[in-house]
Formats: sequence, C-alpha cells, structure tokens
Amino acid sequence: MSAQREVGIDRKRLEQSIDELGRIGATPRGGLTRVALTDEDKRGRDLMVRWMRDAGLRVSIDQMGNIFGERAGREPLPPVMMGSHIDSVPTGGKYDGQLGVLCGLETIRALDTHRIRTRHPVTLAIFTNEEGARFQPAMIASGVMAGKIALEDAYNVRDKDGIRLVDALERIGYLGSEPCVPRPLRAYLELHIEQGPFLEEEGRSVGVVDGIVGISWSRLSIHGVQDHAGPTPMRIRHDALVAAAEIVTGVRTIAKELGGDLVTTVGNLVVHPNIPNAIPGKITLSIDMRDPRDETLEVARRCLDAVVKAACEREGVRYELEHYWRVPFTPFAPDVVAAVERAATAVGAPFRHILSGAGHDAQYMAAIGPTGMIFVPSRDGRSHCEEEFTPMDDIEHGAATLFLAVLDLAERV
Ligand SMILES: [Zn+2]
Repeated sequence: MSAQREVGIDRKRLEQSIDELGRIGATPRGGLTRVALTDEDKRGRDLMVRWMRDAGLRVSIDQMGNIFGERAGREPLPPVMMGSHIDSVPTGGKYDGQLGVLCGLETIRALDTHRIRTRHPVTLAIFTNEEGARFQPAMIASGVMAGKIALEDAYNVRDKDGIRLVDALERIGYLGSEPCVPRPLRAYLELHIEQGPFLEEEGRSVGVVDGIVGISWSRLSIHGVQDHAGPTPMRIRHDALVAAAEIVTGVRTIAKELGGDLVTTVGNLVVHPNIPNAIPGKITLSIDMRDPRDETLEVARRCLDAVVKAACEREGVRYELEHYWRVPFTPFAPDVVAAVERAATAVGAPFRHILSGAGHDAQYMAAIGPTGMIFVPSRDGRSHCEEEFTPMDDIEHGAATLFLAVLDLAERV
C-alpha cells in the first residue's frame, strides 16, 4: 500500500505546489533567488496567502511580516503550528524553507480532503527573513516573536543599501498589525532539509530531530608589524598572517582532537593591507564552533585561547580574542520528538534521530512552546546552492510524517 493512501497526503498536489512556488525567483540553473522583502519575496508571499485563503485559513500578518493561517479546531485551544520560511539566499535552492511551508500547506489541504476537524486548531506560519542574507541577524522575526530581539531593534536593522527592515516590509505591503509576541502553542513543528550528509549516506528518508547544537562565535584581531616585503629580513618580521595561518589549522585541530560532534570553522579572514609587497600588519578573523554539549564548547573555547596565545607568541604579535556570541544547545520537547517518531514509524519511513547543526526558526520557537523538527535528506549534503535537491520519495515520507505528527499532537491535550 502506498504511503499516500495510508495517511492521506497528496504527493502530486504537493509536487505541483513545490514547482509553482519554485518558479518565483527561479534561476536558470534550477535554483532560487528570493531574498527577504524583495519583489520576488512579495510574489511568493502573495501566492502563499492566496493558497492559504483558498484552503479556508484565517490569515493574519504580524508586526514583523510573519504570516499565520489558522484552521479552527473543535475546541478553542492553543494551536499546533507548522512553519518555516520562503526567503532564500542569493542563488540558493528551492527546498530550503519553502519545502517546510509547502508540506505544512499540504497537511492542511489533506485535513480538508479527509474532512478531519482536529481538536486543537492547526496553524501554518511563514517567518520573515529567516536566512539573514539581506538583514542580519538571521531568524530575526522568530527572534522578535520569542522576545529575544526587541521589535525596535529589528525594525532599524539596515541592508547593505541602507534600507531599514521596517521600510522594506512596508514597501511590499507586509507590515502587519498583529502583535509579534509569544502566543500559546500546543506545539511547533518544522519540516526542513537536513543540509548535511547523514540521512542520504544511511539511506533514510526522515530525520527525527532531537535538538539544535550549541554555537560559539569568537572574533580575533592580530596586530603584527607592517613592513616592506623586500628589505625586511625574515629574522625581524612579525607577520600577522603567519600567526593567523597557524591559528586556522589550529582551529581545525581542536575539532580533530576533541572529536565527537564538534565542528570548527574559520570562515572570515581579512588581511591588511592585503597587497603583494607588504608584510601583513593586521588580521581579523572569525571562529565558529558548534557542538550539542555545552561543556565541549567550553573546553573548545579554552583550547582556542591556548592555540591563539601560542601562535601569537611564536610570531611576536599582539592580539585581542573575544568570545562574543553563544547559543546553548536547544533540546526539543520530548513529547513532540516522540510524536514525530511515532509518525515516521506509522508512515513506514526509514528514519534516524539526528541533531541540527544549523539554526532554524524552531530554535526561537522552542522558547515559546513544545517544539520539534523533521528533516528530509539533502543530496550530497548540499544546501544554500542551486544544486540543492531532495528526491520526491523522501519528500513524500517527510510530508506524511508531518501530517501524522500534527494529527497526533492536535488530538492530545
Ligand atoms: Zn532554512
């Protein structure tokens, strides 16, 4: 028996929606450029709102442009909310974000098809500017909703052209009036692509996500002595880039030595004056470290202190190291995780438990109510690129899992 007949989602209808929304901002190489609060984002939102109204949802827009569509329940209880985002990075893919929104819409449509009236209401949410490609930080709108970012601060964030977020929201007609504040939730569930290789490597179509790893960000400035690349003998040099090079490999060694799930990255490095004939006098660089265990991140920070100190002493350069941002491990709610596992089992989807290495709106939503996520595989583990791809068989398993998990959660107290 096909999963579709068992659980009621319509694969063909879902596939058509993915194709149709994927055409808004489509790139010639099969990807998507639909950056937050651009004309493409507006067209994507307009289509989603139309589909949500066609499905009989009561649509509202909040002060951050988050879109909510509510389907009434049998009782006036807090809703089970499904959500994700439809903005993309430039030349991104057509699965990151929009797949979660469309599987949520398919869940609503399937409830209608089968004339199911759930006990709790079911809400579909679309969050503004999840990617942070245009306005930083990422996940700014769920952050405001969770009370972690002040509305005024979010409004005044500017893109690289100096346009304020609030003005961009108003321009596309999505500056809503509904307060952007925590609301009572039965549960929040987000389906998303894995963006890593594990599900595909193991031939599994569903990831039951247990939580989002902790993140530590540090910034480092190294002050060497800028001098001429010719007449300055090697023995008297204090080269900031030589120290930085040692630190870049040292940062990787931290992950290798501590092992486990720890990942460490130097992703940004700026060299001054960055010309061929001067010894680099100043370097700034970023260090991103992630692990599910907060203790490991603490140890990794101490290792980083030691690596930086040793490398800078060897080269005789000064430095400032600042650990300026830290997000602890976000565990998901055991009852939501259990509902996802039961659903995946009922669907017959090969699944495994997994952690998210990337941030999602679910991270902030977990501060508001019981939260969980469902992952589907990413081909070659790739995302944020035009090659991003998830096979339709896996999407069907993921969507059916979402449908059953929502049904399960929406019937319980
Ligand atoms: Zn995403």
